[in-house]
Amino acid sequence: NDSISKNFIEQIIDKDLDEGTYTKVHTRFPPEPNGFLHIGHAKSILLNYGTAKKYNGKFNLRFDDTNPMKEKSEYVQSIIEDVKWLGADFGGHTFFTSDYFDTMYECAIKLIKKGKAYIDELKAEEIKELRGTLTQPGKNSPYRDRPTQESLALFEKMKNGEFPDGAMVLRAKIDMSSPNINMRDPIIYRIAHVTHHNTGDKWCIYPLYDYAHPIGDAIEGITHSICTLEFEDHRPLYDWVLKELEFDTPPKQIEFSKLYLTDVITGKRNLKKLVEDGIVDGWDDPRLVTLSALRRRGVTPESIKKFMELVGVSKSQSSADYAMFEYCIREDLKLKKERLMSVIKPLKVVITNYPEDEVEYLDAENNQENEEMGIRKIPFCREIYIEQEDFMENPPKKYFRLFPGNEVRLKNAYFIKCEEVIKDENGEVIELRCSYDPETKSGSGFTGRKVKGTLHWVAAPYAVKAEVRLYEHILKEGEPLIKDNGDWNVNPNSLEVLKECYIEPYVKDAKPGDSFQFVRHGYFCVDSKDTTEDHLVFNRIVSLKSSYRP
Ligand code: ATP
Ligand code: MG
Ligand code: MG
Repeated sequence: NDSISKNFIEQIIDKDLDEGTYTKVHTRFPPEPNGFLHIGHAKSILLNYGTAKKYNGKFNLRFDDTNPMKEKSEYVQSIIEDVKWLGADFGGHTFFTSDYFDTMYECAIKLIKKGKAYIDELKAEEIKELRGTLTQPGKNSPYRDRPTQESLALFEKMKNGEFPDGAMVLRAKIDMSSPNINMRDPIIYRIAHVTHHNTGDKWCIYPLYDYAHPIGDAIEGITHSICTLEFEDHRPLYDWVLKELEFDTPPKQIEFSKLYLTDVITGKRNLKKLVEDGIVDGWDDPRLVTLSALRRRGVTPESIKKFMELVGVSKSQSSADYAMFEYCIREDLKLKKERLMSVIKPLKVVITNYPEDEVEYLDAENNQENEEMGIRKIPFCREIYIEQEDFMENPPKKYFRLFPGNEVRLKNAYFIKCEEVIKDENGEVIELRCSYDPETKSGSGFTGRKVKGTLHWVAAPYAVKAEVRLYEHILKEGEPLIKDNGDWNVNPNSLEVLKECYIEPYVKDAKPGDSFQFVRHGYFCVDSKDTTEDHLVFNRIVSLKSSYRP
């Protein structure tokens, strides 16, 4: 059955189309350009865009820029980039609520003339005081019944800049005893002598969100105005504005629950403060879940889409497990990325019976689960690197990697046996001397004896040196972001920088944004900010270990 696989929004739309309430579907994503977008916004973008697409409808990107104090063009640019990156096609045109300020002003005059709005000269605190509480009805302002002509004249003077900030506001005249506080004569215009990122100094009065939003939706011909649950209580006001302004075919607001993810920080306010306090390296610090950070880290739009599909759309508040997101990232990259060998904490190994100055090129499959990716040649020679953690001088039982006298397989190459351990003056192991057995070449069909461990490695003179950055959650598991004393409570292990890593020569020409699997370590992406001609930096996108079971 079709309706069972449809989410609740699609069911509403189906009904609307059936009943002829609307003849098409038109959605929008309305960010406020006051910060960078995060993974939560991706849910809204993909939902709005995906819904429009499913119904062959249209999708608008509209900047809800009614609050000039916090908004910047820089944010507009980053939001456009993020929405494009996610593949949400908004038809190339960006809309701005501020483009409708003229219409909104005219609409306000219409409301005043209808006796549905008035200028209030009470101070902000007095308005708040009279608004009442959930259990107590509000009280009328003494200005509530002032003559229409007086409100019209004052509103015009407000617009002309004759009053300072806060001197008066325009309020909708609805119902001070409504059980819904949003309906108790909400403020719809205020004075702010602030330069606007789009309209400059043309205006010194600005509409409030709850008034501007329905008008913006109606002007653009939006049918389904999909937003998050915190706006549920605002819907009566949304509908009131549209009704009083007599728009034909008014849009319909539908709410869904926000995406929350465990162990990460969403919320522009916190993100902004982390950036401003220098706790992170900008909005695109790979420990953040802004879309620019995820992109820099190497997360793909496809994996974000897959994640959103798994999470689904509903009205119930819940938090998705970050491990589920990581699962989606791995699933997306698994068959697409070459699996290379890298050594992130190197230990040098000299293969004493391998001729000096000789090199041979061995075959390695690019991706064992996807034959189509072909094979590559990897150099093998006398000096290689293995991981420090793949050798122990005094191993516990069941340690199958390298230790004195033990033999292991080098992946795609030969068996080697540890013959001698070289240490520095402090007793630190700095090099191993091993022998190799030419009979044991990988792919030769050798069955003479078996070894239990297989190690990854790279040929020392041919390897590409790189910096590798490993990440953990920025929050300590289960702990709050801010400590009792007000300090940030950041996980000190959230970033580990390894400066001397060696990677197969395959990555020699890797470009910022390219990504690979490094065997055993996970998926890595070339950092687009700190990589230079002669300094390659890799961010770990995700490790290979998974705690999530689909
Ligand atoms: P934040 O609360 O993170 O600061 P915001 O809601 O203030 O975000 P807006 O720019 O107003 O940011 O958001 C644009 C749209 O994105 C809104 O429709 C909002 O409901 C939606 N949105 C914001 N956060 C989430 C989230 N976590 N999950 C789903 N949608 C979200
Ligand atoms: Mg907002
Ligand atoms: Mg916010």
